[in-house]
Formats: sequence, C-alpha cells, structure tokens
Amino acid sequence: MDLLLFGIQGSGKGTQAKRLAAEFGFDIFEAGGELRKIAASGSPLGETVKSYIDAGKLVPHEIIMQVVKEAIGKRPKSQKILFDGIPRDADQKRDFDAIMMEAGRDFRGIQLLLEPEEGVQRILGRAKIEGRADDANEEVIRRRMQTFVDKTLPVIEAYGKEGKIVAIDGRGEIDAVYEEMRGEVQMMK
Ligand code: AMP
Repeated sequence: MDLLLFGIQGSGKGTQAKRLAAEFGFDIFEAGGELRKIAASGSPLGETVKSYIDAGKLVPHEIIMQVVKEAIGKRPKSQKILFDGIPRDADQKRDFDAIMMEAGRDFRGIQLLLEPEEGVQRILGRAKIEGRADDANEEVIRRRMQTFVDKTLPVIEAYGKEGKIVAIDGRGEIDAVYEEMRGEVQMMK
C-alpha cells in the first residue's frame, strides 16, 4: 500500500516522511524536490520549472504529471512509495488516480493539520538553515499557502469522501506526531 502525505508547507511533512520511509521501507517521491532538481539542471525545461517555483506557483500540469508518471513507472510494484506533495489540485488528482489505477497501486493518505500562520512562521525559520530561495520570501510563502487552501484542500476533501484519508494534528512535538502517524500506517498495511 502506498502513502500520500498532505500538509501545508511547514507542517513537518518532509521530516515525518523520512522517518516513515526508514521504518516502513517506503521510497519517497517528493514532488517539490524532484522539481527543484529539474530547475537546477539549467535546461530550457529547468528554466521554466524554476520560474514557477520562484513565484510560488504550481508548475504546469503536463510537466509534473510526466515526472510522477516516470517515477511510478520505474519502480516495481513491490516497492512501496510515499508521495509527498502530489496531487495538489483536482486535475492532478484525476490523472494521478488514473496512473495509480493503471499501475495496480493502492494507496491511502494522511493529512497533517496545522494552521497556515504557524506554517509560515516555521518556514521562515527553516529558510535560514536550508537556504531555499522560495522559503525566504514571505510573499512567495503566502502564495504557496493560498494555493494549498484553494487547490489542495479540495483534493484532500475528495479523498476524504472516498474514505482514503485520515487527519492528524500536526501541532505537537515531532516525536508525538510521528507516533500517531506510524499507528495509522501500521493499520493501513
Ligand atoms: P514544496 O517543496 O512542496 O514546498 O514545493 C515547492 C514548489 O515546487 C511549489 O511551490 C511549486 O512551485 C512546485 N511544486 C511542488 N509540487 C508540485 C505539484 N504537485 N504540482 C505543481 N508544482 C509543484
């Protein structure tokens, strides 16, 4: 069973993803990370991707779907995947669900709940450590949050209606939040 992680930027999703991957053997597909690699390549495609990331906007549909499709295609079905940062809007959900269905992969999701303002503050703190340009600009961060609220929350709601998602309070200590998450993942197996 594959796992989708949802949560606003700063919710601790990336950290928890790494721990879950280590404990349960997931291979992580981090949409933002994959796109940042392409952006750093210097190719014309990279330049395009970079312009969206720098602006805090979702990169065009065809680009991200091509990336995720390839990532799914090259992994054997026996390799569980943890998807971080995809799908992020209704169109991505539609195509993602179809790709997963075609690949014969079943999945469930976890949503890490955190107030957007708390996320903004956490990211501003993290930017100083990780040096990400799109994390250092408050306007860009706020645009990413707004995109999450406008486009990604409806995706989470839709998966909720399909009975595919559980929500976990992301406000606590990393270890306490992780304990809750691992409990959920154990039940999914
Ligand atoms: P993140 O690392 O998840 O904060 O994502 C950083 C940036 O990568 C976002 O602001 C978008 O520009 C881009 N990005 C990440 N995931 C997606 C996605 N699923 N669809 C489109 N753009 C994405």
